[in-house]
Amino acid sequence: RSKVMPNEKAKLARYGGRQTVTALPGDGIGPEMIAHVQRIFTFANVPVDFETMQLNSDLSRDEDLENAIVAIKRNGVCLKGNIETKFDDPQFKSRNMEIRRRLDLFANVLHTVSIPTVPTRHKDIDIVMIRENTEGEYSGLEHETTKGVVESLKIVTKDKMERIARFAFEYALRYDRKNVTAVHKANIQKLGDGLFLKIATNLAKNEYPEIKFQAMIVDNASMQLVSRPQQFSGGIMLMPNLYGNIISNIACGLVGGPGLVSGMNIGKHYAVFETATRNTGTSLAGQDVANPTAFIRAACDMLCYLGYYNDANLISDCLFRTLTVQRVHTADIGGKATASELVTSVLENIEKQWEKTHHH
Ligand code: ATP
Repeated sequence: RSKVMPNEKAKLARYGGRQTVTALPGDGIGPEMIAHVQRIFTFANVPVDFETMQLNSDLSRDEDLENAIVAIKRNGVCLKGNIETKFDDPQFKSRNMEIRRRLDLFANVLHTVSIPTVPTRHKDIDIVMIRENTEGEYSGLEHETTKGVVESLKIVTKDKMERIARFAFEYALRYDRKNVTAVHKANIQKLGDGLFLKIATNLAKNEYPEIKFQAMIVDNASMQLVSRPQQFSGGIMLMPNLYGNIISNIACGLVGGPGLVSGMNIGKHYAVFETATRNTGTSLAGQDVANPTAFIRAACDMLCYLGYYNDANLISDCLFRTLTVQRVHTADIGGKATASELVTSVLENIEKQWEKTHHH
């Protein structure tokens, strides 16, 4: 079940009891994934409508990015596929990043949980990953000072570090997570990571003494995570941007890969829901083989954020049954089912649930 901080302050686009959310299908498998979610929402009578915006990596269409951002600001909430990022053009800024930066979606939150019946090396993983989502190595400030010498700036600010650390401690209190581990490299990046470490340590000591806190160097954390991940179970890993990206991907791999885990991007005013590992899956597109689980879970996260807990729980419970009781698995986790068959199974479970509760 999703554990998402509900939106308490933001103005949401709710008319006649229905909520409008922005859908950004993006590239690769994104459009078909949004279609799966739409099919489930329609079947389950979820009172949410999508306003679909086209946005891809075509730079000649700059207005698309502006229109998408305006739409998210209007609706408050977005369900998003990944937009391809071109490597070869240094002028091309990742549009995914632009959206997060412009909307100040400072916290990336992933819940990596083992799903019984999904084949993995380790069992009983249950870790919340909280990653700073706007600065650090992702500031996008790079230049070639003289030929052959490049400077890439990693920006670390006290305010943003404090904001993300506080978010993690508050999350721990609210959802009863038993500890917070701050992941850093302060032995080498003494000033930048040093500031992050100092802020997290002081906050733990002065304001959140009831939460167990530890610091761990990122290289060791990587090794610990792949060899004994259960030591982090029940807790939170708190990370600056780049380490957070890498460690989160390791954790997703541990519980079954890119098709399973959702990721939320939360700010003070807006929220964008997507998959945890943010892949486009271009080579899988159009074949009905990509695992829709991560996207469906992102949709459930979104419903929790909107306060539609019953819909979120119904869909996520039925999805869980599809994966564990009926063992409907797509190829990425060793199964033979298509994505559509998985979704059909979820719908059948919803139907059964309704029959049980005489609802209709
Ligand atoms: P491509 O986009 O052509 O698949 P890539 O290297 O850019 O190649 P990513 O989109 O980054 O791939 O995805 C990483 C890997 O995860 C790929 O092997 C991709 O096929 C796989 N993958 C991504 N999403 C899913 C999904 N929903 N279900 C199954 N596999 C997925």
